[in-house]
Amino acid sequence: MRNRIYADNAATTALDVDAFEAMKPYLLDEYGNASQPYFFSRKPKRALKEARATIASCLGAQPEEIFFTSGGTESDNWAIKCFGAPSDVRTIFTSQIEHRAVLNACDHQFKHSKCTVIKLPVDSEGIVSPSVLHDAMIEEVSNRDVISCETKLVSIMLANNEIGTIEPIKELAEIAHKHRAIFHTDAVQAVGHIPIDVQALGVDLLSASAHKFNGPKGIGFLYVRKGTLLFPYLNGGAQEREMRAGTENVASIVGMAVALKNNCDAIEQNRERIQKLENLLISLLDESGIQYSRNGGHNKLPGLLSLSFPGKDAEALLHRMDLMGICISTGAACNSVHTEVSHVLKAIKLEDNLAKGTIRISLGKNNSTDDVYSILLALKKILSSE
Ligand code: PLP
Repeated sequence: MRNRIYADNAATTALDVDAFEAMKPYLLDEYGNASQPYFFSRKPKRALKEARATIASCLGAQPEEIFFTSGGTESDNWAIKCFGAPSDVRTIFTSQIEHRAVLNACDHQFKHSKCTVIKLPVDSEGIVSPSVLHDAMIEEVSNRDVISCETKLVSIMLANNEIGTIEPIKELAEIAHKHRAIFHTDAVQAVGHIPIDVQALGVDLLSASAHKFNGPKGIGFLYVRKGTLLFPYLNGGAQEREMRAGTENVASIVGMAVALKNNCDAIEQNRERIQKLENLLISLLDESGIQYSRNGGHNKLPGLLSLSFPGKDAEALLHRMDLMGICISTGAACNSVHTEVSHVLKAIKLEDNLAKGTIRISLGKNNSTDDVYSILLALKKILSSE
């Protein structure tokens, strides 16, 4: 393969080599169905148990609170579509900058199950203010008759995938609980990158996806606090204590646990290293004289840079970087086929002139200072030739 620089770690990450090695036996030799009672299933069964315990310990959770899913999209859909009891009347409070996995699941609920959906605005840094949530919850109560079997969910992401802003989850969860709502957070971008303790955050449901923290693709989990009312999303076999049917993907679950443990064990070193790379890129950009502005909050994911170049075309920039062997993004990966301004940039009210010239560079633990110099050189070359 030709030389390339991968700077789109918010879209996906390289598989951890230890995770790959740990997966191999469960793909080649120990392929028994973990739910069968015979000797050949003993090892896969034990591997599932150990993986569940490892993942739980990385988040301050109990093993029984971890439910394996196919990834972030499924975990989000499960939380949004299945909170409460099936017969409940539902209300969801979410934000305008959630990932499509949350927003589209909410829209589906609105269309097909008469669920009320309230999408909260954010400030210019992409922060959901706790007082905005509080006011919205008060207003919602005063607008309707009291319904005995009503269940409310607040779903606010832990960190945004386009601009990196970290939300005040603890405060938001406290407000949700005061109003007797369940609190869900989409932590897909944050797990394995910043320290997370579900007890300290006070969340009831938390979504994660392995491929964002150097695990394999197509596997993730939903943390469900003990006692949280949630019904199954996938019906079928009795796997996952009858909460999520389907033969367990043992190899991927094992890989996910190893990747998460490795990332969590080195979380501060990685964070420091990635932050240094980010600082270097910013100082090089400042010295270069290139006109740009940054989006997102002061408290944000390390290495995730949303940069706007006034009057430039982000799509063209992405393609020219691609031709130079550098992978970046114009926003959310799943949005990259669309040319319109992303819903996140709209929500932070970024001027059109800047929004159309916005790229996302997301540096990860495998990036080097050489990568940063090459990115800067490429940006300089492209932007000065336009
Ligand atoms: N939520 C967020 C914040 C994401 O960034 C993504 C992926 O980009 C998802 C959910 C979906 O995760 P998955 O790719 O595992 O379905």
